[in-house]
Amino acid sequence: RIAYVNGQYVRHPEAAVHVEDRGFQFADGVYEVCEVRQGMIVDLTRHLNRLDRSLRELKMASPMSRAALTFVIREVLRRNRVRNGIFYLQVTRGAARRDHYFPAPDTPPTITITAKSTDPSVAAKKYANGIKVITVPENRWDRVDIKTVGLLPNVLAKQQAKEQGAQDAIFVDRNGIVMEGASSNVWIVTPEGELVTRPAEHGILKGITRTTLMDVAATLDLKVAEREFKIEEMMAAREVFFTSATGICVPIVEIDGKPIANGHPGTVSASIRDAFFDIAEKTPI
Ligand code: PMP
Repeated sequence: RIAYVNGQYVRHPEAAVHVEDRGFQFADGVYEVCEVRQGMIVDLTRHLNRLDRSLRELKMASPMSRAALTFVIREVLRRNRVRNGIFYLQVTRGAARRDHYFPAPDTPPTITITAKSTDPSVAAKKYANGIKVITVPENRWDRVDIKTVGLLPNVLAKQQAKEQGAQDAIFVDRNGIVMEGASSNVWIVTPEGELVTRPAEHGILKGITRTTLMDVAATLDLKVAEREFKIEEMMAAREVFFTSATGICVPIVEIDGKPIANGHPGTVSASIRDAFFDIAEKTPI
């Protein structure tokens, strides 16, 4: 495998950043993960728009122009022969002697890009069986709308899920309001057949898959409501599912040990998933 590190393509085992990198020391960095399917990058424009926003919110400089970045992303995918998989892109505020204040303005940002192929049968199994999740108390800072690499609460939540025999976790705030998954957004289908997801202005990451799913729902004539919902409403839903770039639309069949509906994946999430790739933006590698 090949990785891109600060202007160079290097062998993956040797790919490294400095010990004084601010991403390593302070989680002072942002990232994006984008899906690649059938040789097409899915929703690249929206992912790069969100990267720009994350950088802006943290007052970090853009590491390179969008044209250059797109070129490098495609090159990393080509060099790794990815046709189905993902790329991971990370930008940090660079390497400098450890000090909380921003480093000198001429400090170059660190940019790394990796890519890997994924096995479509793994996703297929998730779609067919659905996944089990647990709920955990929301304990994150209030700027999770920025896609930073500071993911410790998410890491602990996912590990807790694994140790309890589930695959993932959903953050729920102290009032019982459902926030989002540890690496995904949460949707429900109400008993009346309405698709609901919470507003994404703050308190959660505004997922790209979430945004594109709204385009998909419109073409399928499905009604979408952006409103908050509580854990009780989620437990009584006809369907519950996650959206994320890596999973697209993953049915949740059990939450905290209790089945959702009849405990099997629903038809709404399946039809959305089937239409998703047709509607999403596709950029050839
Ligand atoms: N919320 C969180 C906390 C995430 O980490 C992710 C995945 N990066 C998402 C939501 C889903 O975002 P997207 O659809 O852009 O992958």
